[in-house]
Amino acid sequence: MLNKNLGLDDQLHQYVLSVSVKEPEVLAELRQETSNYTGFRMQITPEQGQFLAFLIKLIKAKKALEIGVFTGYSSLVTAIALPEDGKLIACDIDENYTQIARKYWEKAGVSEKINLHIAPALETLDQLLAQGEAETFDFAFIDADKRNYPNYYEKCLQLIRKGGLIAIDNVLWSGKVADPEINDKQTLAIRDFNSKIYQDDRVNLSLIPIADGLTLVIKK
Ligand code: SAM
Ligand code: CA
Repeated sequence: MLNKNLGLDDQLHQYVLSVSVKEPEVLAELRQETSNYTGFRMQITPEQGQFLAFLIKLIKAKKALEIGVFTGYSSLVTAIALPEDGKLIACDIDENYTQIARKYWEKAGVSEKINLHIAPALETLDQLLAQGEAETFDFAFIDADKRNYPNYYEKCLQLIRKGGLIAIDNVLWSGKVADPEINDKQTLAIRDFNSKIYQDDRVNLSLIPIADGLTLVIKK
């Protein structure tokens, strides 16, 4: 019996994409523009974007949080998936790449739903908590500096409601987390984070081996 992942070679991966991914034109354009920049690999994949949109709709999220915007692919996915009166608080420190994000939010007609905070995300999250917004968010996506993952996770856990969902990206870190010989700072940070979250009884968890690994937790 097949009791582990099938493992996707390029041919099978292309097949999966060909029978499942329906990337809206505006997202395809943003992907194309981002491919001109050195950090283009930071962008989430189309199948991951579609999966996040699926989850957002499934839980009927209205209020969302994003940590790590870059050129805006995941935030655009989120904003499109939210209802008309939905809100996304988006956090990043980079003025330049987020200008591209703003351009595409405008183009897709969703900029009204998005509030971009240019500041270290921990400051923005603390500000939201200070404003009494604990337990008011339905969904959070964590995809910024890896060493702060435990801090982002703790703050997001306070900010989302019971039954709310947190998605954390890059938890497989190109497979390095499973290799005991690899112990650079970022690999160690993600490996520690994965162990910590596995032992966290405040949530139900699932690690999805999509793209670079996506952990999903539901707040109990
Ligand atoms: N989710 C994005 C997408 O789909 O294209 C990719 C995000 S990229 C992997 C990480 C982003 O985190 C970068 O744009 C970077 O500027 C931002 N970042 C790094 N440190 C940060 C911090 N302390 N606070 C907020 N954002 C930060
Ligand atoms: Ca990522």
